Amino acid sequence: MLNVVLFGPPGAGKGTQSAFLVEAYGFIHLSTGDVFRANIKGATPLGTLAKSYMDQGQLVPDSVTIDMLAAELAKYPAAPGFIFDGFPRTGPQAEALDALLSGMNASVTAMLALEVPETELKARLLERGKTSGRPDDADPNVIQKRIDVYNADTAPVQHFYEAQGKYIGIPGVGSIEEITQRLKVALDTL
Ligand code: ADP
Repeated sequence: MLNVVLFGPPGAGKGTQSAFLVEAYGFIHLSTGDVFRANIKGATPLGTLAKSYMDQGQLVPDSVTIDMLAAELAKYPAAPGFIFDGFPRTGPQAEALDALLSGMNASVTAMLALEVPETELKARLLERGKTSGRPDDADPNVIQKRIDVYNADTAPVQHFYEAQGKYIGIPGVGSIEEITQRLKVALDTL
């Protein structure tokens, strides 16, 4: 069972690349952002709560996010492997993921981290905002806030996996196909 954390700042291409990797490897794709957006669309209490943070470019609190992820994981008792997209985003989330997976006799195999310079991220997110309908992509201030939160709270999660020898950096600039290829090369070494 291959369990991969696809890591990187907002706009790095995690969602785009996940789709190709699901096709090639049969992963179950768990995107916390997608689950929150589905809850917003469905007007659930979780959606209302998540929206109040997401629209400001802030992280949804750990306790809420971890409970949600645990519930998602429980839906797939016979999964061939997971690709985690947008989770973990904090140290406590990384520890919770280890605990949840170990309860399934599994573990994180590797973190694949898409490395993209900040100027490129901002340009991509503003471009995506023209068509995504995502309020958090439409406002340059919210984009900057998400990048700041990433640098302060999420980037350090890299060290958690480095310490376990599980961190693999992948250059995230180039064509979508080139980047998929780099990810596949890395995955095939696992
Ligand atoms: P992006 O990576 O482009 O910011 P996501 O869909 O991954 O897009 O996340 C959108 C928003 O959803 C985040 O800015 C945050 O508010 C919330 N979110 C997603 N995943 C998490 C998480 N693991 N912990 C806390 N908040 C999260």
